[in-house]
Amino acid sequence: MEYRKKHGSDTWHFCKNCANWPTSGYDSKTTKPTSGELCNQCQAKKSAGNCK
Ligand SMILES: [Zn+2]
Repeated sequence: MEYRKKHGSDTWHFCKNCANWPTSGYDSKTTKPTSGELCNQCQAKKSAGNCK
């Protein structure tokens, strides 16, 4: 799974279908981030089984 965080933000996204999925100017990780926060929308999608 890929995690992305926009520069200047503390929120990590991990669903490519998140409305706020960063497409430019972001940091990327392939392991679960240990700092910052996980996006609420991404987490909601994941629990709904709708995380792409
Ligand atoms: Zn998100």
